[in-house]
Amino acid sequence: MLDFLGNLKRTHYCGVLHASDAGRDVVVMGWVHRRRDLGNLLFLDVRDRSGIVQVVFNKETQPEAHAKAEHVRSEYVVAVEAKVVKREKANPDIATGEIELAAAKLHLLNTAKTPPFPIEEQINAAEETRLRYRYLDLRRPKPHQNLALRHKIVLEMRKVMDEMGFIEVETPMLTRSTPEGARDYLVPSRVHHGQFYALPQSPQIFKQILMIGGLDRYFQIVKCFRDEDLRADRQPEFTQLDLEMSFPRQEDIFGVIENVMVRVCAVAGIQVTAPFPHMLYKDAIRKYGSDKPDLRFAMELHEVTECFPAEAKQKLQIEGNVFALAAPGAAGYSRKQLDELTEKANALGARGAYFVKVTAEGMTSTVEKLIGAENVKRLGAACGAKAGDLVVAVSAKEQVKGTEAAALIAGQLRLQLGEALGAIDKTQWKFLWITGFPLFEWSETDRTWVSAQHPFTGIVDEDVEKLESAPWEVRSKGYDIVLNGYELGSGSIRIHRQDVQERVFKALGLTQEQLRRRFGFFLDALTYGTPPHGGIALGVDRIAMLLAGEKSIREVIAFGKTTAAQDLMAESPSEVDKDQLDQLGIQIKK
Ligand code: ASP
Repeated sequence: MLDFLGNLKRTHYCGVLHASDAGRDVVVMGWVHRRRDLGNLLFLDVRDRSGIVQVVFNKETQPEAHAKAEHVRSEYVVAVEAKVVKREKANPDIATGEIELAAAKLHLLNTAKTPPFPIEEQINAAEETRLRYRYLDLRRPKPHQNLALRHKIVLEMRKVMDEMGFIEVETPMLTRSTPEGARDYLVPSRVHHGQFYALPQSPQIFKQILMIGGLDRYFQIVKCFRDEDLRADRQPEFTQLDLEMSFPRQEDIFGVIENVMVRVCAVAGIQVTAPFPHMLYKDAIRKYGSDKPDLRFAMELHEVTECFPAEAKQKLQIEGNVFALAAPGAAGYSRKQLDELTEKANALGARGAYFVKVTAEGMTSTVEKLIGAENVKRLGAACGAKAGDLVVAVSAKEQVKGTEAAALIAGQLRLQLGEALGAIDKTQWKFLWITGFPLFEWSETDRTWVSAQHPFTGIVDEDVEKLESAPWEVRSKGYDIVLNGYELGSGSIRIHRQDVQERVFKALGLTQEQLRRRFGFFLDALTYGTPPHGGIALGVDRIAMLLAGEKSIREVIAFGKTTAAQDLMAESPSEVDKDQLDQLGIQIKK
């Protein structure tokens, strides 16, 4: 028989009781974490979000409560009226270990089925099971702490933004396509058959219009929706700290974000100092083989094309540049380990991987016969390799216009080797601004220029005239912020002139008709006195993930989706009734 909660009032959370509470009459409520029956004495560990407290039921002094406790199982929901008593022998393993509760009365508020995994700190349930039963998973301490930390982070963001004079404005979720380089999630209109809203890939156009509207400083903690392939740090819907300001210099925007990040890190007990260093995009690619370099370790890349004479290049079928790095202490790698590295490099698109082992006696190389001893030495020296190091050089199978394909491969190997060799100092928090992006990237698939960020990104003043004649040379006013090898956000000073915006759309291949249809309203707005403006958006999920020390953003999202974009708990996406489809004027193609 279940009891009613009635007028019973909780006096304390389980996890907050201490020796100083001894003698107090308390009422705690929560879940039965564990039950131990020793005959005359029965112990229930009761858990709520604050922690666990041990409750004892004494058959002799409280026979009724004891009898009731015998029926209780794990995860039953209970309320206990009890007295706090000091334990003779404290249990140092739990925060409330100095005391226990001597039960006077037990209220059984609900039963529970046996959960598919134990509600413990460490579990080995598959992530799918955890997602399907997320309500049980959330009872565990870590998911719980993660959500609490996320709350603190978002709260701090709002506080700092408010202090800096930004106002939070909501923008529509049912809107039209905002290009951020992904596919849209579409919502069919019931009232206008055949027409669709798009869920925003970001509030980009709206926040720019807010600047035209004179709001001057806008921010929003906002959901964005992008239908793209998912990874550990990507979800179809994710949260941004989105902001925009009028009349800014680039350093003003950097200052705002540095302020936010210093404060947010402090919430997680991490001390960082601003300003953050800057790096040009092309230097990041050449030195780290990445547009989001992890600066917690060195192992920098070096271009070593010159160490490969023409004949060797021909034999090895090397076309573009060769990039190399020295892996500290890896000279002892076995044949098998080198083969594995080669396999990895090939999987990343390498034409070949070439190794030099550096020992106190000298250097040996897999390509010594082809490039000669002198070049092997130069290769080692170019990478600053010391005795004990392994030099890893790679060439790319295919060159990519506007970037260094071999560097990108070497950059991936740098990360893998850095991790494998324990070279990454995990106690460090390395922020970095990347600037100097090209405005356009060449898309092999679409055989056209596409925006490197989005089409509203501003253009370095002296490059505007090259928009039509040399688009590949046009530099953008965009920037990214990077933390420990993760892109936390990106933004730019925008285009605020209608004529320039129209030229960019045209350079992207939009016809007059297409740009009127898709962006006419925005181009019109730009003609009514648009102030220079700029902004940025930070990924809140990623920030929370990194500060929580997690490897997947699903760990800091209450109800995350799988990499197949499914919500296993709510079982979405799902089919809908024929009626609903009829109302929307939709027929499903089989
Ligand atoms: N809308 C951009 C994004 O979501 C950020 C920005 O340019 O402010 O990446």
